[in-house]
Amino acid sequence: MPASHSLRVAVYTGMFDPAHLGHLDIIERGSRLFDRIVVGVGTNPEKQPFLSLEERVLLLRKILKSYKNVEVRPFEGLAVRFVREIGARIMLRGLRTLSDHEYEFTMSLTNQALDSEIETVFLMAKETYSHISSTLIRQIATFQGDLDKFVPPEVKAALVKRIG
Ligand code: ADP
Repeated sequence: MPASHSLRVAVYTGMFDPAHLGHLDIIERGSRLFDRIVVGVGTNPEKQPFLSLEERVLLLRKILKSYKNVEVRPFEGLAVRFVREIGARIMLRGLRTLSDHEYEFTMSLTNQALDSEIETVFLMAKETYSHISSTLIRQIATFQGDLDKFVPPEVKAALVKRIG
């Protein structure tokens, strides 16, 4: 679907390494607030990911296939540049704990300095998911803990395969 300025398009970026129920909750709620959500799956040049970029994108596409106004795309480089490429002006972010706030405010102010026309919209994490992070899930997966409460089955299967 081509980007149009009459539509409210929000871009939700992250590493999603792996995607979890906290991310999915933000995407679901975002998809009801905006006409279209583009999920941007990023890379970190300083860090080797747990799951490859291709796998993270494919997993999100599989999990989100029933959301007709949500699209998943890989991107490289600055998130604000990706938002521009999409033709959007809104970045969607999720906020968990107080420690998230400082990081997210720094990111938001930096993005505003890079591109003053782009606004960040924050959604508070649902209480049930506010303790979930990708880091925690990677640790649970590594030590073969129970992942059912944190990730959808498709992600669990990919993590189990990755651990071997
Ligand atoms: P990044 O490495 O860019 O922080 P993440 O994949 O960890 O990427 O997170 C992407 C977005 O999802 C961020 O806005 C982050 O705050 C949000 N997020 C992460 N975990 C949760 C959660 N449990 N509940 C709600 N939002 C979350």
